[in-house]
Amino acid sequence: MPWRVGPQARRAGDTPDPYRIWLSEVMLQQTTVAAVKDYFHRFTMRWPTVTALAAAADEDVMAAWAGLGYYARARNLLKCARVVVADHGGQFPTTRDGLLGLPGIGPYTAAAIAAIAYDLPETVVDGNVERVMARLHDLHLPLPTAKPELIEFARRLTPRQRPGDYAQAVMDLGATICTPKSPACGICPWRAPCAARSEGTAQQLPKKLPKKPKPIRLGIAYVGRRTDGAFLLQRRPDKGLLGGMLGWPGSEWAEIPPQESPPVAADWRDLGAEARHTFTHFHLRLAVRVAVIPPEAQPDVGAFIPHDRFRPSDLPTVMRKAFDLARASFEYES
Ligand code: SF4
Repeated sequence: MPWRVGPQARRAGDTPDPYRIWLSEVMLQQTTVAAVKDYFHRFTMRWPTVTALAAAADEDVMAAWAGLGYYARARNLLKCARVVVADHGGQFPTTRDGLLGLPGIGPYTAAAIAAIAYDLPETVVDGNVERVMARLHDLHLPLPTAKPELIEFARRLTPRQRPGDYAQAVMDLGATICTPKSPACGICPWRAPCAARSEGTAQQLPKKLPKKPKPIRLGIAYVGRRTDGAFLLQRRPDKGLLGGMLGWPGSEWAEIPPQESPPVAADWRDLGAEARHTFTHFHLRLAVRVAVIPPEAQPDVGAFIPHDRFRPSDLPTVMRKAFDLARASFEYES
């Protein structure tokens, strides 16, 4: 992984860059290494230091984050970078408590940065570590009730020697050997003390309380293009879902059928297709309307973005899905 400094490199004097560890940890929340690698690469090429990131324009960072989801993280990323520069002289605090004082850094991320970047004996517990701890101790209490007990198990195992290497090793063990469906116990360094292996219960653990079914919300997106090729887009308010991201104007998203609320007078046509997307707490079905907007039209919301400045990749995934459905109607060629 591009943010890692392995044990050998550490021995040779290389130290992990807290900026890169922080960035990777924020990106990795709720997603996988495979999904993050390209984003990490692009971010660090464009903004190689926290100072460079702090000086970036909000809309550039939001556009670079588009597609990675959970956009509050991108907003907090910027806030945090700016606080590090303004209040800490461009250096991340070097303790867990100091890191916890930064915007968007919770107990997990603070512990991860403190352990990995500063080699401090902090207990780092992500989903992989939870699984390994539940199996090592054959704990059948379901998640999330079991969390405090799993953290305590992990805390007791955290060594004072090379805690940074240890934190990464346990996470890797969970990601590559003690996997959810088929743990490779035969090659596991903890096979001897592992209680779930000897009880034959590894694959059933960790137990989880059943999740509530997600509700379905409905909405309408208006994908409009002016006769000169400009698209009508709207930046979403900073607070709330997809906050600060560009999107198509549209209705509220609710569990009842939405009211039509076109952003500008035009001959809007129902595409007869829905952009579907699942958020943390609900499924969204977004009906798509399309129109060619006359040149003199004055929209009630949003602004026209000229064709040569419009990049579908700047849109969050659900808005890109709506665009993909609509693009054939405009014979759009990117
Ligand atoms: S022995 Fe098997 S179940 Fe136990 S920690 Fe190792 S891989 Fe996981």
